[in-house]
This record gives sequence, C-alpha cells and structure tokens, in this order.
Amino acid sequence: MVTQFPSWLRTYEDCPKRYKFRCIDRRPEKDSPAFTVGRNIHAALKTFFSLKVGDRSHEKLVELLKEAWRHDRRVFTRGDPELERDWGSRAVEMLTRSYDILDVFARPAALEQFIEVAVEDELILKGMVDRIDRVGDKELKVIDYKSAKFPLSEISERERDVAAVIYALGVENLFPGDKVVAVDYIYLGDARVLRFEPTQKLMEEKLNKIRELVKRIEADRHWVATPSQLCAYCGYLDICPEGTDFIGHVEPIEIEELPF
Ligand code: SF4
Repeated sequence: MVTQFPSWLRTYEDCPKRYKFRCIDRRPEKDSPAFTVGRNIHAALKTFFSLKVGDRSHEKLVELLKEAWRHDRRVFTRGDPELERDWGSRAVEMLTRSYDILDVFARPAALEQFIEVAVEDELILKGMVDRIDRVGDKELKVIDYKSAKFPLSEISERERDVAAVIYALGVENLFPGDKVVAVDYIYLGDARVLRFEPTQKLMEEKLNKIRELVKRIEADRHWVATPSQLCAYCGYLDICPEGTDFIGHVEPIEIEELPF
C-alpha cells in the first residue's frame, strides 16, 4: 500500500531530486520568509473563521496575523528587522487585498481538516483542506488558501493539478451523502480564485493521472535534479550542486506555487 499527498506529487513533478530529499529521505527543508508568511497566514485565517461572524473584521484578521507571527518568526530572529518588516507587510497586504473574496460571512463545516481517500487497494491519498463551507442542503465547497502568485498559465495549472479531486473525494468521505460542488483555490496576493468543479469526468481523468504519477515515482531510481526558477525557493538549495549552479546563472522569478 502506497501513501501519497498532493504536495508530494507536485514536488515530484517539479523536481524528482527535491522529492527524494523531502519525501523519501525526510530531510527537514530549510525554513524561509516565504514559508513563514504562508504558515502565519493560514494560522490567522483558521482562527478568524472559527470566530462568530459578528466578531470578524479586517482589523481582527490583521491582529490574528500578528499574533500568529509572534509565535512563528524564528527565520527572522537573527536576521535584519528590515527584512522582517518587508515580509510582514507583504503578509498584511495579501490579507487586505483578498479580504473581500474570503466570504467573511461563511459558516465553515470544518477548518484545517485532514482528509484521506483509498484508491482501490493499492493507494491511499492524504491531505489537509483549509476550509469546508456548506453552500447548500447537501452541497459543500472546499477552500484552499494560496500565498503564492496566481499561475502564469491557468490552462497549464488546471492540467497539472491533482489536489482538487483528492480534496473533493476526501471531503465527501467525511460527509457521507454530501457532494462537493467546487474546490476554490484563493490566491491571496492577487485576490483571485481558481475554481475546480469536480465532475465525474474530471475525477476519472485526475485519478488516472495520479496512478501514472505514482507508478513513475515507484519506478524511479535516479531522482534526477530538474533545476528551474523554483530552485531559488527550494529548502535544499544549499546541498544541491545542480540547483546552486542553475541559480548562479539566472534571475529568480516570483514563485507560483509553494508547498503549503
Ligand atoms: S535546488 Fe533545484 S534542482 Fe536542487 S533539489 Fe531543489 S528544486 Fe531540485
């Protein structure tokens, strides 16, 4: 029986060597300001949506972000205060820009919910969804917050994504009789939403893609490094000659996808 997570599958597609470090060797990935922003934004939004609707406001959300930040800022503690101010301001700006599309009146059925799906007898898919909203009598919507930039190509992102169907199947397992009608990725920095409607056709296509991907991973013995602009945000850059060499020759671009 093989266990996989959506973020692991994406890591393998991005770079098999990073997958080896992260998912097989289980080496801790070096922390970074970008990861810190992602964790603290998620923590703030979780607490925010556990409040009563009347207690939610933009000011409260920023206050919760600062509260989370106080407990998770180790990446900056020996660094320079300007850097921390810069990243902190980015985090506040993200929440401010996206505040109107967060649906502050939502009454979530669950927050930061662990999900699990068995695909036949061969594979278990696991993951965590940020928020589950009830949108109809028997209908649910899954929300996933992204602190990365909206994808440069929406078409290619739709082709690559396998997480949405895993979330939909996992949530339907948890709420028997209910149907997930949408999985929304909210890109906080751009205040844009990428929506997946998990139709039967999409489910079948993506489950086939996942099976293929898992087979490739199982057969891989070489874990070839595939350097790209993502190396600038890889926590294993210090121990990866291919990535270091690549980064020495290109300007990094803003990352599209972070592993959280
Ligand atoms: S630095 Fe780049 S090439 Fe090396 S493991 Fe990370 S993503 Fe892969």
